[in-house]
Amino acid sequence: MGTTVHGVLERNARKYPEKEAFITASNRLTYAEMNNTCNQLARLLQAQGVHQGDKVAVMSRNNEHYFYAFFSLMKLGAIPMPLNIRLTPTELAAILKEVDAAGIFYEEELQANVQATKELLPLPHVISIQQAAALAASFSADNLDLPIDSRDVCEILFTSGTTGTPKGAVFNHERILAVATAVSVNFGLSNQDRMLTLMPLSHSAPINTFFMSGLYCGCSHVIGDFAPKTFLQLIQQEKTTFSFAAPIAYLLSSQDPEIDQYDLSSMRVFAYGGGPLALASYERVKKAFKNDNFYQVYGLTEAGPNGTLLYPHEHLTKSGSIGKYPTVNMELKVVRPDDSETAANEYGEIILAGDSLMLEYYQKPEETAAAIKGGWLYTGDIAYRDEDGYVYIVDRKKDVIISGGVNIYPREIEEVLAKHEAVSESCVVGIPHPEWGETVKAVVVTKGTVTEAELRAFVSAYLADYKCPRLYSFVEELPRNASGKILKQQVKQLN
Ligand code: ATP
Repeated sequence: MGTTVHGVLERNARKYPEKEAFITASNRLTYAEMNNTCNQLARLLQAQGVHQGDKVAVMSRNNEHYFYAFFSLMKLGAIPMPLNIRLTPTELAAILKEVDAAGIFYEEELQANVQATKELLPLPHVISIQQAAALAASFSADNLDLPIDSRDVCEILFTSGTTGTPKGAVFNHERILAVATAVSVNFGLSNQDRMLTLMPLSHSAPINTFFMSGLYCGCSHVIGDFAPKTFLQLIQQEKTTFSFAAPIAYLLSSQDPEIDQYDLSSMRVFAYGGGPLALASYERVKKAFKNDNFYQVYGLTEAGPNGTLLYPHEHLTKSGSIGKYPTVNMELKVVRPDDSETAANEYGEIILAGDSLMLEYYQKPEETAAAIKGGWLYTGDIAYRDEDGYVYIVDRKKDVIISGGVNIYPREIEEVLAKHEAVSESCVVGIPHPEWGETVKAVVVTKGTVTEAELRAFVSAYLADYKCPRLYSFVEELPRNASGKILKQQVKQLN
């Protein structure tokens, strides 16, 4: 049968019954308490007609309700699909229709959105987690004894949708536990670790990569919704040891004027990824946190996410790289279009193989066949290796600007802009141009006074003329998705 994800929760409940494992804004639950409630809920769902194989959306902010829904569905053999709570009813209904969902298991506070979705798409099981928990209290809290195999599909995660509509990546227990194993080994996790999760649990990295590895190792989990101060407060209050966050989250927390008053010394790992942290910004964050324990992780939903990591000491000489070696159970190549490996400093596409790849995109055989060929996942990330074998992401294939037939990589320009002390962050995009095909535009968030002319002069000192932005615009903030990723398609629409 093999180990299942909910089997790990059950094992932890036996091994560490009294350990405070789920610490949220309103609750402090042990592994045993979480497991018991999920057993009761699973029985209630069963009584209400939810079956093995049913695909059910999980909609909750980062709190205990999320895990009640997630684990109770898994215990039944149903398939949880964590969804971004910021999606509109129209977007939600479209996703749920596409995957033929059986229902939505939701946190009461999100009722308005869920009801509006239900009106667009009637579903058999639309259940409030809190109401279900109250009803389930009279059911048995013993583990269920259902024949669930580690190779059964147990989760569908949606890609961020930063380059198009979200696609459902399908996983079984084995693949998820392979991600957990890789992260546990690479970060030397133990049951002494206290993991801080403030990134939305609907996104692949917080749930599959970091929560799962903490579950696997029997860690305590401090869970909440991100705000710069909450991040600092929880580290100090809960003496957390490990966090994963998007670069912007660390950047915003590092700018808190009271940061010096917080004791962040318990932290042994600040993992960041999902996008680059410009070198200059990285230096500022490290200084503000008075902590050097920064690990860059690279991966994508379709790979688990699981991929590579750059250790703190490697930042000294290889900052900006995603690392040299893939994690324990993965392989990585940078390849040319004919699949041969590139030479040093030559651009190619990153491909990944290993134990944690998704099984498929849900009911998208063509897209799956285009993404996974011969066991290798084609990531769409353009990269090169330096002479020492370290991999540097240049950009995503879909974000490359082609101006006058020449490829321009926005990240290179964003790195230069980040060096300017009055630039907080920027996003460089290609705008349609009648003659050149596309022209380069920089959309900039400032944190001081700087004029367009000054930025033009600054950038031209670093970059060849054809790469220098022809257009600039200044905005208060960049549009992002729930996990902090910049939505380039929306940036293109900004004036
Ligand atoms: P969609 O496919 O719907 O556009 P998405 O690809 O943004 O969604 P994710 O799986 O969250 O969804 O994003 C993975 C991508 O994020 C990678 O392919 C890569 O481009 C980028 N990325 C991840 N980690 C890093 C990193 N450490 N440095 C630079 N880029 C990264």
